[in-house]
Amino acid sequence: MYTSTPNWLMQRAFLTPERIAVYEGSGQKTFAELHTAAVRTAGRLAYLGVQRGDIVAILMKNSTAMVEIIHGLHYIGAVVLLQNIRLTASELNWQIEDSGAKWWIVDEQWRDDANSSSVPVVTATELASLPEQEVPLQQEYDFHEVATIMYTSGTTGKPKGVLQTYGNHWWSAIGSALNLGLLERDCWLAAVPFFHISGLSILMRSVIYGMSVYVMQHFDAKKANEIILGEKATIMSVVSTMLQQMISELGSLTYPHTFRCMLLGGGPAPKPLLEACRDKGIPVYQTYGMTETASQIVTLAPEYSFSKLGSAGKPLFPAQLRVETDGRTARPYEPGEIVVKGPNVAKGYLHRPEATKKALRNGWFYTGDMGYIDEEGFLYVLDRRSDLIISGGENIYPAEIEAILLSHEAVEEAGVTGVEDERWGQVPYAFVKLRNGVSVTPPQLLEFCRERLAKYKVPKRIYIVDELPRNAAKKLLRRQLIHLIPKHEQ
Ligand code: ATP
Ligand code: MG
Repeated sequence: MYTSTPNWLMQRAFLTPERIAVYEGSGQKTFAELHTAAVRTAGRLAYLGVQRGDIVAILMKNSTAMVEIIHGLHYIGAVVLLQNIRLTASELNWQIEDSGAKWWIVDEQWRDDANSSSVPVVTATELASLPEQEVPLQQEYDFHEVATIMYTSGTTGKPKGVLQTYGNHWWSAIGSALNLGLLERDCWLAAVPFFHISGLSILMRSVIYGMSVYVMQHFDAKKANEIILGEKATIMSVVSTMLQQMISELGSLTYPHTFRCMLLGGGPAPKPLLEACRDKGIPVYQTYGMTETASQIVTLAPEYSFSKLGSAGKPLFPAQLRVETDGRTARPYEPGEIVVKGPNVAKGYLHRPEATKKALRNGWFYTGDMGYIDEEGFLYVLDRRSDLIISGGENIYPAEIEAILLSHEAVEEAGVTGVEDERWGQVPYAFVKLRNGVSVTPPQLLEFCRERLAKYKVPKRIYIVDELPRNAAKKLLRRQLIHLIPKHEQ
């Protein structure tokens, strides 16, 4: 069986050299230019001493330079470890130690964070001025070989380094194209970070498809809208808070028809947001995926974006999906753990054979997420298994209560967690952050919930707080909500 392809960027630069690979601000680079830059970067990395198989960590903001370094490292055959810039110095150093990275490439502003580490640190600017050394370039990419390592967000525990192979990225890109289609004029707006799989997967698709990427250093709702309104992008990946900001900023304007896909993932999508987009004619495709599936694995097809509102869709063409409960496949609508299979599923966790064995069983990956599948095969993601609240024998999904609270006009953010209760075992407690200048009392919110939720799901208590605990990926840390309960009530 064929398990390799020609080096992607090299092949792309050979096939369609004049097409634009990256736009950034007023600058741009063709695939031929990006290839030349990657070759030069590879030469500098070789001068530094980087060798095939070395793990090299990158701590950078989205930029064309970062794109060149990722490709340059792959040209040498090094493994790229992508790090989240919002992590603390100690979290970053922990990843360096845990992974056994040999080098650390950082943007200037993180030099101090990196300096205490035992591995050599080089800034992206320093790297760019190093001499180039002749080095053999990888002519082929082997599907079994690890291309990138990314630590999970650490929402449910300590982050784990996910081993993503060239094969994972390849199949992820192919699966996405078989669902969303591919147009010659496509340009993917990359405002999500390259250190998350949502961002990195755009770069992989770019070279595999021959598609342009519009690089945004950091997300800015106004700028993103300008790019779309100026017909410079046809597809964009977002998480719900980004989309929320873009919709508010857009006012009464609507996007042009050239904009064909808003890919929404990363976490649950609040229904009011989906409805607002539907009313504005914005084609939102909900998607479900994770670091371990090298981005999307389940995505709603365009024709169902309105009729199956709230569903994450069906598996991508190369993938399979099941919901499992009590060791058997669940019936339609019956909740259970989401399990997936496909060539985009990572081969395991770095230095974690036990965690790998637990997650990957008989070729299926146990996601730790709960959901159900309707009679037509559409997936509805409920919540993380570890966040499930069991109250008097009934299952309560925090996300469902949060979605109700979020549909209240005064509520900006909501978090729900289970608290021990003598009578029921556990009961839901809610924590909300209000919108600026709007006021509402906990009893009013409770009344709002009572009108919309079964009695056992109505939060026992609602607290109004200034901020909800989130991790570096901005995901809600439900386990920490309990610390927001005032001391005298604990
Ligand atoms: P950790 O595994 O360390 O706890 P994490 O799971 O948050 O961190 P990621 O891989 O970044 O790390 O996130 C993937 C998770 O995000 C999924 O497992 C799921 O819980 C959530 N998620 C992704 N897409 C959706 C979606 N459409 N609806 C609901 N949840 C989603
Ligand atoms: Mg996870």
